[in-house]
Amino acid sequence: MLRTHTCGELRKNHVGQTVILSGWVQGIRDKGSLLWIDLRDRYGITQITIETEHTKADHVTLARSLGREYVIRVKGKVVERYSSNDKILTGEIEIHPEHLELLNASVTPPFTIEDDTDGGDDLRMKYRYLDLRRNPVRKNLELRHRMAIETRNYLDKKLFLEVETPVLIKSTPEGARDFVVPSRMNKGEFYALPQSPQTFKQLLMVGGFDRYYQIVKCFRDEDLRADRQPEFTQIDCEMAFVEQEDILNTFEGLIKHLFNRVMNIDIGTLPRMTYQHAMKYYGNDKPDIRFEMTFIELNDWVKNKGFKVFDEAQLVLGICVQGAASYTRKQLDELTEFVKRPQLGASGLVYARFQDDGVIKSSVDKFFSPEELQKWAQAMQAQPGDLMLILAGETHKTRKAMSELRLEMGTRLGLRNKNTFACHWVVDFPLVEWNEETKRWHAMHHPFTSPKPEDVSLLECAPEKVRANAYDLVINGVEVGGGSIRIAKKDIQAKMFDLLGFSREEAEKQFGFLMQAFEYGAPPHGGIAFGFDRLCALFGGADVIRDFIAFPKNNSGRDVMIDSPSSISIEQLKELGITMNPQD
Ligand code: ASP
Repeated sequence: MLRTHTCGELRKNHVGQTVILSGWVQGIRDKGSLLWIDLRDRYGITQITIETEHTKADHVTLARSLGREYVIRVKGKVVERYSSNDKILTGEIEIHPEHLELLNASVTPPFTIEDDTDGGDDLRMKYRYLDLRRNPVRKNLELRHRMAIETRNYLDKKLFLEVETPVLIKSTPEGARDFVVPSRMNKGEFYALPQSPQTFKQLLMVGGFDRYYQIVKCFRDEDLRADRQPEFTQIDCEMAFVEQEDILNTFEGLIKHLFNRVMNIDIGTLPRMTYQHAMKYYGNDKPDIRFEMTFIELNDWVKNKGFKVFDEAQLVLGICVQGAASYTRKQLDELTEFVKRPQLGASGLVYARFQDDGVIKSSVDKFFSPEELQKWAQAMQAQPGDLMLILAGETHKTRKAMSELRLEMGTRLGLRNKNTFACHWVVDFPLVEWNEETKRWHAMHHPFTSPKPEDVSLLECAPEKVRANAYDLVINGVEVGGGSIRIAKKDIQAKMFDLLGFSREEAEKQFGFLMQAFEYGAPPHGGIAFGFDRLCALFGGADVIRDFIAFPKNNSGRDVMIDSPSSISIEQLKELGITMNPQD
């Protein structure tokens, strides 16, 4: 037998028993007459204590030859320790071995298998199987497992069926680039990997499945960021015979269930905010509402006083940063640099300190009288001790820059604690947005999202004003999920395709199968998908989803462990009917 117990299991009540443990050597300390081995497995660490003078010589020799990460089997007695170690769960006992056996040797690992490892990112990714032995990585994957189980428990109770949809499909409508797979049997033709199971889940509704979910891999060929992976996992859901309200309630239930079961947190009822409100007060469609610091539009207070920057601006926006009047010149210069970075592109930052003595000192004192500055303070509900920060310019750009500045101030003031969770819905997204590059309307969510019935009449004359039955779930400023009520009527879908600039032929070619299915009695339906990796990262208090994926890709989309992507042989290419011209 290789083990009777795990390395995390033994306690005082096991004292006196003879047990067998197997695991990895975490470390060895050799004091001559006494030698300790820390034996590790997934469940914990158990101390093996060898009194060298009272142990068989060959066992002592073996023990002394062990190195880090050797795999051994130990048979011995559980003994109470003289002084217990309350840092580990098995700290009250140790094993006095009768038998020691080497199961496998290990070369020296390239980094230490410790909570705080000396291995850099690249090394850890190359030897991910060793990284997985570390507690923090294992705990993340245990959390992920728990999240998946609890998701299934909740949805199963609500009568959702988990259905697998295919992976070799054709382009889906999420708007990213597809990963494609050449077909050997159909030379010159390609499958696309699903960006989501969107069309299939809608077909399942036509198929009468009524409530579907799937914890499913999706693939999007996009530029990578910390919170993106080319393949990622969604909790993908769809329901028939529902309105928006039903979806919001069902999935608010799921999120509450997860917080409750996994984190032991009651998050209460989720507030709802319209997209318009989010943009006006936070400059962002996924606002972090762990803190206020909402935008105040100052046009009425600041224009026509001779300050050109304000006079020429479409929008002058302020935020009041509580308690930050003591910010030094250096700190304010840093903030100015922050908003002037090319990504934000603000021309500058105006500030006004509301001093404790009641006097307001601003960077534009030349243009504004003390009385006028007091009026700003009134508009921004600033108190002595507060700092007012103001940006001006074109509406969209100014909101975007202010949104970043607000988040930066939130971070600087410690208002974005990772263990506090602020969850809410953003609803009433616009149906379409204008894309300057392609000079076309693009679906903000996807082309199957339904317009609000009361806005349908605007589809032709003012598409930008049409609101969609679309919603996002936001946690701590991260978009965790999104979905919509779908178009189930052929004429509206045709209008939508027209608006998006699809010719009838294009629409037919890409989505004809769905349109055809809708002719056979499509029930009203809608759904949502959650980014499962992101949700896990959030629950785990991390920003980077990579740490919650067993075998992730790096920032260039590479798996450096298995060295993929990689080239394939000329024979393989030929078989697939692909010719490669290195000149292209
Ligand atoms: N398929 C959508 C997405 O991946 C979610 C949905 O509309 O249900 O964002």
